[in-house]
Parts: sequence; C-alpha cells; structure tokens
Amino acid sequence: MNKILVVILFISLTAFGKPTPPKLIVFISIDQMRADYFERYDKYFTGGFHRLYSKGIVYSNADLNYAASETGPGHATLGTGCYPWKSGILSNDWVERTTLNEMYCVKDSSAHQVDSVGGGFSPRNLVATAVGDWLKQQSPNSKVITASTKDRAAILMGGKHADYAFWYNKSVGGMVTSDYYTKTLPQWVKAFNASNWSEKNAPEQWVKILPESDYAKLGPDEFSAESKWKNSTAFPHNFTTGKKAEEIVGSPYGDKIIVDFAMKAVQEENLGKRNVTDLLCISLSNCDYVGHGQGPDSHEMFDLLINIDRYLGELFEYLDTNVGKDNYVVALSADHAVCPLPEFNVEFRNITAKRYIYSTNIKPKTDGLNSILKKELNSIDDILIKNSFINYSAGIQAGLDSLQLEQKVKAGLLSIDAFVDVYFRRELMTREKSDKLFIEKYRNSYYSPRGKDFLYRIRENCIISSNAYGTTHGSPYSYDTHVPLIFWWNNVASHKISREVHSADAAPTLAKFAGFSFPNNLDGVPLKEVVQ
Ligand SMILES: [Zn+2]
Repeated sequence: MNKILVVILFISLTAFGKPTPPKLIVFISIDQMRADYFERYDKYFTGGFHRLYSKGIVYSNADLNYAASETGPGHATLGTGCYPWKSGILSNDWVERTTLNEMYCVKDSSAHQVDSVGGGFSPRNLVATAVGDWLKQQSPNSKVITASTKDRAAILMGGKHADYAFWYNKSVGGMVTSDYYTKTLPQWVKAFNASNWSEKNAPEQWVKILPESDYAKLGPDEFSAESKWKNSTAFPHNFTTGKKAEEIVGSPYGDKIIVDFAMKAVQEENLGKRNVTDLLCISLSNCDYVGHGQGPDSHEMFDLLINIDRYLGELFEYLDTNVGKDNYVVALSADHAVCPLPEFNVEFRNITAKRYIYSTNIKPKTDGLNSILKKELNSIDDILIKNSFINYSAGIQAGLDSLQLEQKVKAGLLSIDAFVDVYFRRELMTREKSDKLFIEKYRNSYYSPRGKDFLYRIRENCIISSNAYGTTHGSPYSYDTHVPLIFWWNNVASHKISREVHSADAAPTLAKFAGFSFPNNLDGVPLKEVVQ
C-alpha cells in the first residue's frame, strides 16, 4: 500500500470518529441490570446512561443465550466471549464431581493476601482466555485493570493475565486483591484505602435524588415483599457513622467508590495515555444487591440507577478531559437481569407468579422424593446427592438402568409444583436435536467436568427463596437473560438494533474494533454495526 493511500485511509477512519485503535477500552458491567431500565427511565437519565443510550449503538435484544443467569458465569462470558460450557464457570458455586467438595467460582486456596488483606481468589477455575488476555498477548505493554465490589466480577472479567483485579473489602473500606496478581498493592491503592472514602464521601442518609412525584408513578415505596434496608423498606435509609464502609454496599455509594477508584486507576496507571491500548473493566454490583433486596420495580432501584447515570457521566467527562474524547471506546452490558418480586407481578401486573420458600415448599419435597427412591431401590445410601448427583449404582443394584432411574427422578421432581422440566447430563453433553424447551440454553451452560447429573427448570415468573422477601435470578427466562448491550465512542452514528445478539459478542466485538485478534472458537461474534 502506498503512503498516500495509507493517509487517505487514516483520514477516512478518523473522519467517522472511530478511534483507530482506541487508547483505552472501558468495559462496564452493571450487575443485574435489566435491559428495560433504559426504556423505562431514559427520560430521567442525563449522565453516562444518557450518553450511551441516546448516542451509542444500542442492541435492544441482547440475551445471555445460556441458562445460568448468575454473576460468575455472566462476567466470565462478558470477558471471554464464551458461554459457560466453554469458560468453565457454569455457576457461582458448584459441587465437584469427584470429591463432592463445594467450590466457589473464583476460590483459590493457593492465592494469598496482599499486604494482609484480600487473598483467596483467582481466575484459576476459568478455562478460557479473556479479551484482556488477547490484548496483552499481542501488546505486552498494554495494561488490563479491573475493579468491582465483587471478587468474582473483577476476576472473571479480567481473564488470566490482568495486571490487577481489585475488589471491595468492607472491613478495609477499600480495594483489595490476591497475590495471583501482585506481591504488594500499588502505592496509590494503599493511599486510596487510607483515605477513609466512605466516611468522607457517603452522606448520613441515602435520600431520593429526584422529586417524589417521579417515584410515585412506580407504585408504593413500602411494599410487603421488599427486604428491609436496615430497618425500613422506604426512604430515607440512614447510615451509621463509623459503619459506612460496610453499609454503603447496597446503596449508590457502593458504586460511587468503584467509579472513583476507576478514575484513580486511569490517573495513576496512565491508562489511555501511552502508545498502546489499555483495558479498564468496571463492574458495578449494587444493582444486584438492591435488586435482590427491594426488587427491580422499587423506588430504591430507580434512585440507584439515577445515581449510577450521574457517576458514569462524571467518569466519561473525566475521560474526555484526561484521555481525550477521541481516544476511548465504551461497552456496557450486564452479567444477568432479574425476576420481579412475584408479589409485585401479581398485584400490579396481573401476572401469575409465585414465591416458593425453600425450607417449607421445596426441601421437604426433595427430601421426601429421596426417601421414596431409597425405599423403592432398597438402598441405605441417598439416591439424590447434594441436589446435584444421582446414585446410579444404587439403581443398577436394584435392577434399574440409568434411563429407568432418571425417569423415576424426573417424575418425582415434576410432581413438585415449582419444577416444570428436568435436563439430564446425557442430554446436556450432546448437541443432538431435541424438542425440549430451553435445552440449548442449558447446553450452553453445561461444562461437563463440573456439571451436575441433572438440572431443573423452575416455573416461569416463580422464584425459590429462603424467606418471604426479595427476589432472584438464575433461570433461562428472558426476564433473567435479557441484558443491555451498548457501544459508544465519540461521534459514533447512534442507532438502535433490534436483531438478537448475545452478551458473548461483546468481547470479540471490542477486540476486532481495537484491531487485535481473538480465538476462533468463541461463542460470541464481532457485531458488524460496531466493527464495520
Ligand atoms: Zn450478578
């Protein structure tokens, strides 16, 4: 290619405003963010959400496309572009097939504290590489830094070779890591932790940021199925002086500290200011805490989102000034969404929905099924083991082959009101054509070395809960799997795209956009509207 052509090409690319390549990739996950929050609350957003949603490339139909709608799998998929069947992170926790020991997705007994804090966690269980790994392999001077309230979010988004993954520690009131990444915390992190951020920055009360009339449209602030935020389900929520470091988790300030820390990381590590592409991953966790506690329709959730919108607005303005408007690209998505409070769906949406209390509605029935099967098979050992495995050898001793035993297990489970289908390991380890609903989502979730012998699907709009309050996620239904997916850079031609895409597309899209290569066996694909 001659020089003139190169110059013309360069000019034409910059003319469209596409940073080629970007000096900084900012990859944001809002834990438990439902895609419909943007449509619902768009007119109230003025900051970062507004910039992304009104000016970016917005995929309005982005789905996880796998059943395990949980935080660990969600962040692993965002990072790696692989569904859990390839990332290995098939749930937040699992029971090891060989030892029956319980495992947490980022637990690592060989990863220790750093400067007497943090420790115990690493990406050792992740079996795929992530966008930061691809970047660093091709550009060793690039930096990859991640920050979140949650260890699993920070670690799994960062992949195997992040320079640092930082997560929040309530007792320190600051950010910690493990010796998987470093032998000592950088000086600026020590200074940040010593600054007593929460006492200085969190107010005495979490109060509503907009006029009351904006909240009243959502329904009542007090709702019987909301978990209490300390003593109340309604605003204002009071912090205890001296305990704010602990209590900001579950409030907007739990996200503000992460955004402040991220800006500090940009400043101190010179992200986006060197002659390479850097990657900053930020996962904001408090939508998840508030969603679990007060639900996606609560005044608390609305207020939290308005706050996050402002924090992200501050972050982007900081990047405009310090990295340069034309030098960075932002991607925003979520690890999963959430089911509304069943009681809210019944009362305000006329949807058939139900809360099953685990200790009274589920456990006695699965225990009962186990007892019946033991008696029938004349076995002294359990037939259902740790809610995960089937004692096939007890079946064989009783003259039942594996299919016959599975039929009994399935019939027993489906006699329990909460369950509508059961998927067995043999069905999940194949890609053979099947008419079973949601089977492909379950297969995409199933990493066979760690997979259970069976998974069940819960009834739609229903949750299994430990008590009468709050809600959860984890199903293959769209209320749990429909997430936002937005890309923004300065002067991008904004548009909304309604075809179905997946959160796994984010990582290869960012890689292709920034001009580095990625493995050819990913589940995600580069999205043409972003990379063309
Ligand atoms: Zn989550």
